[in-house]
Amino acid sequence: MGLAAAMPAQAQGNVSVVRDAEIEALVRDYARPIFKAAGLKSNIDIILVNDPGFNAFVAGRRMFINTGALMQSETPNEIIGVIAHEAGHLAGGHQERLRDQIARAQTMAIVASLLGIGAIAAGAAANSSELAQAGGGIVMGGGEAARRSLMGYQRTEETTADRSAITYLEATGQSAKGMLKTFQRFQNALSLSGTRVDPYRISHPMPRERIANLEALATGSRYFDVEDPPALQQRHDMMRAKIAVYTQGQSAAARLFRKAPQGLANQYGDAMATYLYGNLRSAQKKTEALVGAQPKNPYFHELLGDVLMKANRPGQAAEAYRDAVRLDSYKSGILRIALGQALIATGDPASLKKAVSEINTGLERDRENAMGYRYLAQAYGQLGQIPEADLASAEGNFYAGRYQDAKVFAARAQAKMKRGSPGWVRAQDIINFKIPSKKRG
Ligand SMILES: [Zn+2]
Repeated sequence: MGLAAAMPAQAQGNVSVVRDAEIEALVRDYARPIFKAAGLKSNIDIILVNDPGFNAFVAGRRMFINTGALMQSETPNEIIGVIAHEAGHLAGGHQERLRDQIARAQTMAIVASLLGIGAIAAGAAANSSELAQAGGGIVMGGGEAARRSLMGYQRTEETTADRSAITYLEATGQSAKGMLKTFQRFQNALSLSGTRVDPYRISHPMPRERIANLEALATGSRYFDVEDPPALQQRHDMMRAKIAVYTQGQSAAARLFRKAPQGLANQYGDAMATYLYGNLRSAQKKTEALVGAQPKNPYFHELLGDVLMKANRPGQAAEAYRDAVRLDSYKSGILRIALGQALIATGDPASLKKAVSEINTGLERDRENAMGYRYLAQAYGQLGQIPEADLASAEGNFYAGRYQDAKVFAARAQAKMKRGSPGWVRAQDIINFKIPSKKRG
């Protein structure tokens, strides 16, 4: 289930949130030490927005990062620097102003819907072509002025956030070189994403003076020349390979690693491209070679599971996903749900029961995963547990933002449940939920 697209119902056509265990784990690894140094709670949700423009911001306990920002960052240090700067805004209380403005600026339908309930719900497991279509990016509801008023930080806040960022990088023994490089790029108005304007550049004014101050601070650090550990750089490269293949097509990863075609990341990109666009037997061989090179990498096992699912061999796919789950120290719900999906596809009753258990465990970790509820409903349905299936459908629709459908399923489930039981109570919550009125920008 690599890089599954999730489309919130309220914002269809406007935004695409992607879910991926590997990328979420890596970005969390980037953010965790920084957040700790900033004195912020580190249990943040990473929301990956499928958009080639550069953007990253923190709201509450959610960090939003565009796939474009990850792609444009050649090293972990570059994106870590941006995360440090955003953590500076958060620790400085600049977010409070942002949140006030979000409440007021209804033209920013996209941000509002992203922050709303159900917005990060997974819609459907997308195949590559759906995902490519979903890559249209965020269409902003308002004009540039609205964007500025909502997202723009004040100059003093920028200075504060820069200084804080330097402190966090210093405390974690990391260089500010990447942050400086990224901000200099924005100052020079160069956008790697082509003609479009990166949203980050609009929200973060980069006057020459600010960059000069930042440069002085950054180069003054004894960590300025510290480089990312090679293993982290490799994970970063593999993430970029994945985003490239899934969002930019078959040969995108190969283009990315033209200068270093021998690396594992390029091999990974090739295996994913073969899985998405090529021969499945060849994809399996390539993925097994990756597993051989890094047997403890859960995401290579996940890819093997994906390949085997596509080849209609769910029993073997379940084995591969089970390895991925076992090796995943981050305990991603996404991998559990993938395992559950494979178990359902095997079709026998014992596997269906295991599927229910795996998916429920996955959903405990990833409560808003609408796709997980869909598979759960399917497993319960095939087991003949209809009230449970209806409740799962209610939850799935709820987190996908289809509230009316959610209420219909909840009522149906409740009718067959014992009054006051946990399922009954949950159904009642959905029935009682007040549907947010549609706001158009
Ligand atoms: Zn800023």
